[in-house]
Amino acid sequence: MAGTAWERAKNQLKKAAGHLELEPLLFAEMLHPDRTVNVSVPVVMDDGRVEVFEGYRVQHSNILGPYKGGLRYHPRVNMGEVEALAFWMTMKTALVDVPFGGGKGGITVDPKQLSEGELERLTREFTRKLAPVIGPTLDIPAPDVNTNANVMQWIREEYAHIVGKDEPAVVTGKPVERGGSEGRTEATGLGGSVAVLSFLAHLGKNPAGMTVSIQGFGNVGRYLAESLSAAGLKIVALSDSKGGIYIPGGIEDISAVEACKERSGKLAGCYCIGSVCDIYNKKKLDGQDVSSDEVLTLPVDIIVPAALEDVLTEKNAPLIQAKYVLELANGPTTAEADTIFAHRGITVIPDILANAGGVVVSYFEWYQNMHGERWEKADVLAKMKKYMEAAVENVWTHARKHNVSLREAAYIAGLERLRKSFQNPSRSPRRVL
Ligand code: NAD
Repeated sequence: MAGTAWERAKNQLKKAAGHLELEPLLFAEMLHPDRTVNVSVPVVMDDGRVEVFEGYRVQHSNILGPYKGGLRYHPRVNMGEVEALAFWMTMKTALVDVPFGGGKGGITVDPKQLSEGELERLTREFTRKLAPVIGPTLDIPAPDVNTNANVMQWIREEYAHIVGKDEPAVVTGKPVERGGSEGRTEATGLGGSVAVLSFLAHLGKNPAGMTVSIQGFGNVGRYLAESLSAAGLKIVALSDSKGGIYIPGGIEDISAVEACKERSGKLAGCYCIGSVCDIYNKKKLDGQDVSSDEVLTLPVDIIVPAALEDVLTEKNAPLIQAKYVLELANGPTTAEADTIFAHRGITVIPDILANAGGVVVSYFEWYQNMHGERWEKADVLAKMKKYMEAAVENVWTHARKHNVSLREAAYIAGLERLRKSFQNPSRSPRRVL
């Protein structure tokens, strides 16, 4: 596979910038993150040893507002990956029109090997190292792969300890009972559903009965599955890091599969009839065990990478049978795969649009914290839907105007917004609610 995620991101930027004759200064700002922070995080492990982990925070751009983006705990995390993810956040927040910039961070660690206590000590120490560069109007972390509401709460507590004041808006994705927003947990998956349904409507396609295969059954994948299933699409395959299930006739009850995964710690073998899930149902359901890679090449209408980046490559792109790729993971498609999809007439709904529901509701959480408000879940999700539909409309218009892919159109639309703010000398953060 050619190039790192960050190199690919920069190439995507260059292509889109070509359509806009972007000012060299703005172009340079986009190519170079404002700040990269590399920290060491020593932790006393349960057995008394001290282990030192490497942590990162990249603040890519704050042209539109404070840096915003998740923290990822994963063995593959490295500075290049975080730079690409931070850049994509800048494009995403611009595209969906929330007054934030782009940032991202993480620690190179396999959190599954840590106890709860070790994870908490790691997070609190990481917060101490990041404290000088984060804050409610400076840089606001959020959950990403293998981090969740509890991790955000630890960061908030540790930050409060350091600055001597509780600042709930220093992170988003907090537990709802502690200042998190209703609807944040579901937002990315539900936003993905809004994105694909809006595009299908633009294309004049009826989604009812369309088949869907999803790689990744975490926070994002599971809410997407539930939402698309409720909208009348047929979820036929799901996978997580340990494998997957394929039921050509459709998975009847996503919540039963969720409960099974919760109980057994893996999705493989979760063949459910009613609430009874076991391997003996496999034959009755005409089911098949599939690997996490195989879920992407099944004969379905829509595939959804909802786990990690670089899973659609020049190797498997020729084997993809779906007509649509809904990118809920960040950066799941390599440049080579993108080219193959374009030649094969496969439509890719790009990550910076498809998975933006999360950052939209993160903005709502931050806004509620800053203004001492609490919104109902229905209200939050209805507002998020409006933002997503407006972004889809914008991308659709740009794709037709410039005769480019949806990905390129999304970049062009994002860059146009950045340019507008960049040209404004006062550069005041905008209020868009
Ligand atoms: P998560 O940790 O809740 O879930 C990740 C899922 O991917 C798990 O089911 C895990 O088992 C699975 N997985 C990991 N490695 C895999 C592999 N090699 N093959 C198949 N499955 C694998 O994370 P999440 O929050 O659901 O995030 C998933 C993706 O969505 C990430 O790329 C993340 O950056 C992106 N994203 C998340 C949000 C959000 O709000 N959580 C927002 C935007 C984008």
